[in-house]
Amino acid sequence: MRNLLGGKGANLAEMNLIGVPVPPGFTITTDVCSEYYSIGGEEVRNLLNDEVKSAIKGIETLMSHNFGDPSNPLLVSVRSGARASMPGMMDTILNLGLNDEVVAGLSKKTGNERFAWDSYRRFVQMYGDVVLGMKPAEKTEQDPFEAIIEQVKEEAGVKLDNELSVENLKDLVVRFKKAVYERTGKDFPADPYEQLWGAVMAVFNSWMNERAILYRKMEGIPAEWGTAVTVQAMVFGNMGNTSATGVCFSRDAGNGENLFNGEYLINAQGEDVVAGIRTPQQITKIGSQRWAERGGISEADRAAKYPSMEECMPEIYAELNAIQQKLEDHYSDMQDMEFTVQEGKLWLLQTRNGKRTGSAMVKIACDLLHEGKITEEQAIMRIEPNKLDELLHPVFDKEALKKAQLLTKGLPASPGAATGQIVFFADDAAAWNAEGKKVIIVRQETSPEDLEGMTASQGILTTRGGMTSHAAVVARGMGKCCITGAGEMMVNMVERTLTIGKTVLHEGDRISINGTTGEVFLGEVATVAAEMDDDFRTLMTLADKHARLQVRTNADTPRDAATARSFGAVGIGLCRTEHMFFEAEKIKAMREMILSENEEGRVKALEKILPYQRKDFYEIFKVMQGLPVTVRLLDPPLHEFVPHDVKQQEEMAEAMGIDLATLTARIEKLNEQNPMLGHRGCRLGNTFPEITRMQTRAILGACCQLQKEGIETHPEIMVPLVGILYEFKQQEEVIRATAEKVFEEEGVRLDFKVGTMIEIPRAALTADRIASSAEFFSFGTNDLTQMTFGYSRDDIASFLPHYLEQKILKVDPFQVLDQKGVGQLISMATERGRAIRPELKVGICGEHGGEPSSVKFCHRVELNYVSCSPFRVPIARVAAAQAAI
Ligand code: PEP
Ligand code: MG
Repeated sequence: MRNLLGGKGANLAEMNLIGVPVPPGFTITTDVCSEYYSIGGEEVRNLLNDEVKSAIKGIETLMSHNFGDPSNPLLVSVRSGARASMPGMMDTILNLGLNDEVVAGLSKKTGNERFAWDSYRRFVQMYGDVVLGMKPAEKTEQDPFEAIIEQVKEEAGVKLDNELSVENLKDLVVRFKKAVYERTGKDFPADPYEQLWGAVMAVFNSWMNERAILYRKMEGIPAEWGTAVTVQAMVFGNMGNTSATGVCFSRDAGNGENLFNGEYLINAQGEDVVAGIRTPQQITKIGSQRWAERGGISEADRAAKYPSMEECMPEIYAELNAIQQKLEDHYSDMQDMEFTVQEGKLWLLQTRNGKRTGSAMVKIACDLLHEGKITEEQAIMRIEPNKLDELLHPVFDKEALKKAQLLTKGLPASPGAATGQIVFFADDAAAWNAEGKKVIIVRQETSPEDLEGMTASQGILTTRGGMTSHAAVVARGMGKCCITGAGEMMVNMVERTLTIGKTVLHEGDRISINGTTGEVFLGEVATVAAEMDDDFRTLMTLADKHARLQVRTNADTPRDAATARSFGAVGIGLCRTEHMFFEAEKIKAMREMILSENEEGRVKALEKILPYQRKDFYEIFKVMQGLPVTVRLLDPPLHEFVPHDVKQQEEMAEAMGIDLATLTARIEKLNEQNPMLGHRGCRLGNTFPEITRMQTRAILGACCQLQKEGIETHPEIMVPLVGILYEFKQQEEVIRATAEKVFEEEGVRLDFKVGTMIEIPRAALTADRIASSAEFFSFGTNDLTQMTFGYSRDDIASFLPHYLEQKILKVDPFQVLDQKGVGQLISMATERGRAIRPELKVGICGEHGGEPSSVKFCHRVELNYVSCSPFRVPIARVAAAQAAI
């Protein structure tokens, strides 16, 4: 009855129904909230008054306490609860029912005067803020109650709230009430029913507070749903040594082990467990023993000083143990429960599906499946795909992380944890690595020239660039941890320093980076290695069984291809050929090609490149053993390849037999104002068809060779950045004519496909025309996002944090596919393409291909496959299965 009772109310009612002891209460339904907004509070109160009174009577009977009775007081909490979770958006009031007489009764009953008065002053403060409108409208104004607390603390000469004496607390209550009178012209309500109705109305009102409205807008929650109000008896764990409070889990949230565990404190309130003032004790004996073992405490000491609940309160423990099993069985998932024991009586306050680590998530899902408690589909749906990252990359040791000093935050460009010494130049990274040092390369941004240095580093950190910048894309491909766009940092390449606020770091200093969160830490933080186990494999097999969408990989090297295959990729969806040029000899030939003045010079240089490319393709196709491989023709602007430092330019001039001035003039000529929209993609192949000829030769030549060796290949040649049908057609012509020559020379023929990337909005809009020639489409959503939004993928970091903070953007569109805009182009282009060519194979190879919500979108618009970096393949496989369930 979630819709009517809200999440919280429904959960409490459900626990009650299955016989779990929850503090008695009642819920005013979400329908009443709608009534409230149509007929007003007065009317609602008139209509419900009798029912509420009798419900309170019911609680009084069950609790043997009375509302407003100083000798035996019943206090209640009043909480909001919508059908969808809206954490912290609406209001809650605790300890309702207290007044000057009742507080004395509570004090007597608990034998704890301080607690009673602290509860009372908290209640007056909370009620004043929430119900009586004392909370300041502007964030910058001080809460009037906090101002009074500050004043009383100053007068008392103490710093912390908990240093205030009972007299101080009493004084606070008097001053709080005075402030209420001064502001509202009315006395603070002493009558418990007055208090109750005020609170109920305030919760209804909070449905329409600014925070809640904004949150609903972002989450797409309709305003008509309304909130329910749950009124529930308060129970106290601090009523002496037969009272206690604690938190427990039905399985281990850290490693997934099927072991009931948790912590509790005798004679304490919930916040004492969280506040860490007293050390909580373990609930189970085995938990307590393990805890003692870790701390080097002897069994005798443990039993004497830190006994478990199982030992101290065996009966309550047995009851709690039975309840946790019952709740887990009922919800078929690991439960995170809060409980209180009040004078020997156990109450469950809350249960919810427990948060867990990535490995616990996988183990619990598999265990529950094997125990026959959930179905295969349920097991798959239990997985948060992104959390699988924790099983694929090293992560920081949790204890070490607690002590680490955070320096700054950037974009979480490629997950994992890394620690090492700072280097600023790629060649230093390689050299230091060769000496056995672990390094983190820090740069403003990376370029293809840094590839070797990036390979040699543990992780990559850049001050500029977004989620699809060079550093991000390459790092993800390598499965290497990376943070981009850490804009608070300043890199000084001359001084070799990294400045973050007042901290200045030098080359060789140690830092640690978390590519999953974007956090940069000072010094070395210990990491824990990744591990894939049988449960992980079981889960992957299940995922494939249920998925329709296939998962390919973006891989440019045989190593990446092999990694991706081990993760279950069923093909390569994007092989970026430019990434193959950055090795010493290859880059020289490539540079010669680019810097040649005419076709003759280019052809000569391309002749040198051909054998290298052919060898690369041979190895990649060999690794893929007959699986389809999409090879993209050269895409980036040529000037990315030219040498920028003088030494390299001199070498190049010499190798080409020209003087330095001529060479620099040619480099100058290649310079563009806006290279991303300049001479790149198929514009290169169309202006210099000899490049396309060479690449076609290399690809098909390698495949023919493999065919002769008995290894099957399925090449798909992909033309990048097409916007006009004829751009594609011209390239296709060159490719097919070259193919004929290659087959003739090699004496074998093979099937291959020629298709295109759809990454320019015009291509998406004219997809039917393009499909008349292209045999497949692959959405390059990095460029498509860039061109649809008009946000430079390399410069977005300069305004993205502001846009996210201001909620102008909900998420980074380079990370999560914009389904409304870019997605519309994808679904439309797919439909139009297939209308002309029903068998058209359609995939996505932008970075979104490994992001779960984007993968699910791709399933819905019926793409054939997604292609993502190797380490994201498992994530995409699970997301694809979830989409199909
Ligand atoms: C794209 O644009 O989405 C794509 C895959 O190509 P690249 O990132 O190499 O531009
Ligand atoms: Mg692109």
